Amino acid sequence: RERAREILSSVEDRADTRLGVEAMDLLDAYGIETPEGDIVDAPADALEVAEGIDGDVVMKIVSPDILHKSDIGGVKVGVPHEEVYDAYEDLVSRARNYQPDATIIGVQVQEMVDLDDGVETIVGMNRDPQFGPLLLFGLGGIFVETLEDTTFRVAPVSEAEAETMTEEIDAAPLLRGARGRDPVDVAGVAETIQRLSQLVTDFPAILELDINPLVATPDVVKAVDVRLTVD
Ligand code: ADP
Ligand code: MG
Repeated sequence: RERAREILSSVEDRADTRLGVEAMDLLDAYGIETPEGDIVDAPADALEVAEGIDGDVVMKIVSPDILHKSDIGGVKVGVPHEEVYDAYEDLVSRARNYQPDATIIGVQVQEMVDLDDGVETIVGMNRDPQFGPLLLFGLGGIFVETLEDTTFRVAPVSEAEAETMTEEIDAAPLLRGARGRDPVDVAGVAETIQRLSQLVTDFPAILELDINPLVATPDVVKAVDVRLTVD
C-alpha cells in the first residue's frame, strides 16, 4: 500500500493522467501478477530487455495518444530476439503513420503469456456518479466490446463475491474447462478481482482502471495490458 501511494504521488502533478509503466508497478504493489518486461525508448534497450526474457517476446507501442494498440498494428506477438531491433523501429513508424504528432513514450517488451490454454478476461473499474466504484468482470481481449459478456459489482468485494462474479458470465464454463480443456486458475482470477477492488477502494484518485486482457491459464493469472486514469 505504501509502495502504491508512492507511485501515485509520483504522477500526481503530471499533466497526463494516464499511466504507463507506473500502472504495471501499481498492480505489482497489490500483488497482481504482470508479465516480465519493461518499457524502453531505444531499440538497443529493447533488445537488452528481451535478452533477459526466455523465448520470444511481445512488443507494444506505448503512447498516450494510442488507446487501442492492436488497431494500428501496435502489438507484435511472438517476436524472436533477433527481430527485436527491427520490430522496435517498425512499431514507432506505424505509430507515426497513424498520427504524426503522437507522443511516443517508447515500446513495452514483455514475456509471452501462453494463450493456447489460457482465457483472456477483463477486470475493470469505473466510478459511477450514482453507485460509486463499479467493478466489471468479463470475457476480455480485443473483441470484448462486441461480446459484452460481463458482470458488475460495487467495490469493495470479498473474494467469495469475486468468485461469484466469475461464475456469472456466459463464458463461465470456458474458465472451468469446457470441451476437454484444463480449467484455468479461477481462484487466482477471483483473487485478482478482490485485489483490484482493494486498490481502487484505497485510492479514490483512481478514476478508471482496466486490465484487458487479464490472461488466465491453468497455472498463472497475469495482467497483460492495463489502462488507468487518475484524478
Ligand atoms: P490493445 O488492447 O491496446 O490492443 P494489448 O496489450 O491488450 O493491446 O494486446 C492485444 C492482444 O495481444 C491481447 O488481447 C492478447 O491477445 C495479445 N497479447 C498482448 N500481450 C501479450 C502477452 N504478453 N502474451 C501473449 N499475448 C499477448
Ligand atoms: Mg488490451
